[in-house]
Amino acid sequence: MKVGVPKETLPGERRVALIPDTVSRLADKGMEVLVETGAGAAAGFSDEQYEEAGASIVSGPADVFGADVVVKVAPPRVGDEDETARMNGGAALISFLLPLTSPELVRSLADRKVTSFSMELVPRITVAQRMDALSSQATVSGYLAALRGALTVDKFFPMLTTAAGTIPPGKVLVIGAGVAGLQAIATAKRLGARVKGFDIRPAAAEQVESLGATFVGIELEEAETKGGYAKEVTEDQQKKEHELLHDLCVEADVVITTAQVPGRRAPVLVTRDIVEDMRPGSVVVDLAAETGGNCELTQAGETVVENGVQIIGMVNAPSGLPLHASQMYSKNVQELLGHLYDEEANRLTVDFEDEITRECCVTHDGEVVHEATRDAIGTTSNA
Ligand code: NAD
Repeated sequence: MKVGVPKETLPGERRVALIPDTVSRLADKGMEVLVETGAGAAAGFSDEQYEEAGASIVSGPADVFGADVVVKVAPPRVGDEDETARMNGGAALISFLLPLTSPELVRSLADRKVTSFSMELVPRITVAQRMDALSSQATVSGYLAALRGALTVDKFFPMLTTAAGTIPPGKVLVIGAGVAGLQAIATAKRLGARVKGFDIRPAAAEQVESLGATFVGIELEEAETKGGYAKEVTEDQQKKEHELLHDLCVEADVVITTAQVPGRRAPVLVTRDIVEDMRPGSVVVDLAAETGGNCELTQAGETVVENGVQIIGMVNAPSGLPLHASQMYSKNVQELLGHLYDEEANRLTVDFEDEITRECCVTHDGEVVHEATRDAIGTTSNA
């Protein structure tokens, strides 16, 4: 079975889907790995390292996209310079696919009879933890958001006692204490800031406190879905949340926002009136910029200045730490590949009785097999 690793083409994408260490593990299992020349360069991995690990380096995208299984980070391009058009019928694709909002890509994969697996749809169940790329990449994002805040704000994070006077610790508020938020809290704590973590899920309280930060939240009944995600809050609850967040943001030097509700636009929590009351020199780092932003003033990929407050709309944050982000993603892909691989037959198996396959397989045998994707993009099961 040939596994192809293309060079990522999305502007600013520095990660690679497989790192050399993973390649040698796959080669040990009998897979043949083809890597496009330069695929790992931006993440710090040379062609020579891939060759030493047992991969074959190929010069253009044709061979890697012609493999039995293509593994990618960003969704393949459709339309101009269509990457899906390079794939063979019956081949498999493992990648972030954003299927619910990418109808053209999903239809193209179905039309070409590609079996596609979406990394963001891997169920967040204990047996699939090692394949959980949302968590691994959110860990990177949270870490970088705290560093970005520390580098941008006009104050120290740690408390300092010096001959030139005593400096009190910086105050950091992290809104949304999921995977990214908890990593942001941990990082800001390590830098010596005084940190508060805010969430609407009561389960987050213990996790925030275990990091030595203070938990703040509003008491919401049934804030959580069965899967552990947040639900959208009602208008009444929004009002309560707004009042509390106003006071918390105004006293903070850095506000890091990570709040998401799966399948929805990110909730707007740091509104313009809050920013207007914040201290000039303070900073908002918005990790939800790609899904609309938690701050009303956020512009994805830009830094907006309002009332002397810098609002940073971070996009594709994990690419900012490409080596470790790739290492973690590569491990997630290796685990999913290992789960799907039938060593005796030397090919991937597609067993819809298996929960992981059922949840993350988007297209198979010419059909969109993932129900929520079908509903979102408005196609029938027979694409
Ligand atoms: P996410 O990215 O969907 O959301 C980030 C955070 O935003 C969540 O903590 C959520 O509660 C919070 N949020 C949403 N609306 C909000 C609002 N109006 N105000 C304040 N906060 C708001 O979440 P995530 O980080 O991907 O995961 C969330 C939780 O899922 C985790 O903390 C964990 O409990 C669970 N999880 C379980 C597994 C597993 O079992 N394998 C893996 C990963 C995550």
